[in-house]
Amino acid sequence: MTQTAVKPVAAVVPKVKLLIDGVFVDSQSNDWRDVINPANQEVLAQVPFATTAELDAAVAAAAGAFKTWRKTPIGTRARIFLKYQQLIRENMKELAAILTAEQGKTLPDAEGDVFRGLEVVEHAANIGTLQMGELAHNVASGVDTYTLQQPLGVCAGITPFNFPAMIPLWMFPMAIVTGNTFVLKPSEQDPMVIMRLAELALEAGIPAGVLNVVHGGPDIVNAICDHPDIRAVSFVGSTRVGTHVYHRASQAGKRVQCMMGAKNHAVVLPDANREQTLNNLAGAAFGAAGQRCMAISVAVMVGEAGNWIPDLVEKAKALRVDAGHEAGTDVGPLISPAALGRVEGLIEQGKNEGATLELDGRRPTVSDAYASGNFVGPTIFSGVKPGMKIYDEEIFGPVLVVLSAESLDEAIDIVNANPNGNGVAIFTQSGAAAHRFQEEIDVGQVGINVPIPVPVPLFSFTGSRGSKLGDLGPYGKQVIQFYTQTKTVTSRWFDDAASSGVNTTIKLG
Ligand code: NAD
Repeated sequence: MTQTAVKPVAAVVPKVKLLIDGVFVDSQSNDWRDVINPANQEVLAQVPFATTAELDAAVAAAAGAFKTWRKTPIGTRARIFLKYQQLIRENMKELAAILTAEQGKTLPDAEGDVFRGLEVVEHAANIGTLQMGELAHNVASGVDTYTLQQPLGVCAGITPFNFPAMIPLWMFPMAIVTGNTFVLKPSEQDPMVIMRLAELALEAGIPAGVLNVVHGGPDIVNAICDHPDIRAVSFVGSTRVGTHVYHRASQAGKRVQCMMGAKNHAVVLPDANREQTLNNLAGAAFGAAGQRCMAISVAVMVGEAGNWIPDLVEKAKALRVDAGHEAGTDVGPLISPAALGRVEGLIEQGKNEGATLELDGRRPTVSDAYASGNFVGPTIFSGVKPGMKIYDEEIFGPVLVVLSAESLDEAIDIVNANPNGNGVAIFTQSGAAAHRFQEEIDVGQVGINVPIPVPVPLFSFTGSRGSKLGDLGPYGKQVIQFYTQTKTVTSRWFDDAASSGVNTTIKLG
């Protein structure tokens, strides 16, 4: 396959709009970037890097809308999200097609991306039982104390390229349904599917100003962190950028939650179901071309399980690499030529550092029409050790690095010594081993014979150590806390017949 820099350009390249105060508007920016199909370098659209004035307008619209939206009854808010989930279902195929064109993942996986966000929208429609306060009756004579979970105001979200539908849907539905208004800054690399989702959100009844979308890169992210009228920031992306956002927005007095990078291990015990385990490993390591924050990127083979590597290589070799919209594709392209160059460079470095390259996915065979795409096929290294760059860095490509361990305890030590704590899985048929693992492993999401244990929205996504900053996760119960301020009310109603006289102590009478 040859790599070329030639980008086919459509006759008229559409311009991605901003959504400000209920209107899709053209940006006045002088700074525009191409949105490129990673399978063939076709320029799909141009995205603006919005100006500070445009961010100010979006925040002002959100602040204005908050005045009325915060008072909107629960039932009205819930019904908008009931309608929204229906519209997303009805438009699933179109949303997946847009997503595959700009992001590269296969069409079925693109539907999965939308679906995992849709689950959060469904959960938002249950807000009636989620945003409830507590009441203690008669905490002192005739006195009750109760809590209100009140919305914060304008909240903002900053999202990565790898789940361009799911991750924005982790954020704005729960923020808005709890009574806040929102400014979203999606990834500049694939901003198109979210604009279609924003159109559907307005069609579902989200009022003008309640949801706003601005585009851009570091400057607009920094302006969001600094903006005095934004109360909370949700970020999903790399550890480097997330750490910066956490500190900068916290410094400006905001609530911040940052879900960040990963190096997810699968620990394979020799008593595991061999066939199921290898199928799960291959799917989780190479699906979405390894560009999932919960991809399995490290396998720790314990004892005799180390002999399974040749079978794993055979399964990986059988996966088809091609454009995501081609039927039968298992592994699509990486997001950009820069990502491709980085992943290819890390593979070379792994070889140079002494790891064994069991399967080299560089320059795979793909259909002629996609010869210029950013493809790298499934790649497997064995004999990997901490300290090698392919182990220490998040590769974010279809590269699985395999380590060996003598025992479960050694495997647990390896995982817990890694700086990341996003996801982990154990494959075993021993309940006792799985139980010990779940107790001792210091990772946010734990799978037991489940390779990508992303929790459904009845729970919250979480993360340990380097993978997360901030206490509360996105979606689920935790995000109700994140997007609301708890107010306690202590109340007494005077009975005119009984007067208690003046009381100068702090005790409630
Ligand atoms: P990224 O950090 O490069 O970008 C995320 C967002 O930050 C984008 O909107 C981008 O425009 C903005 N940004 C980029 N550089 C910036 C800078 N210097 N200053 C301020 N803002 C900046 O991440 P990505 O490459 O889009 O996404 C992949 C990363 O996201 C991986 O590390 C992956 O593990 C992580 N991720 C984590 C989770 C999770 O839940 N933990 C989920 C998905 C992705």
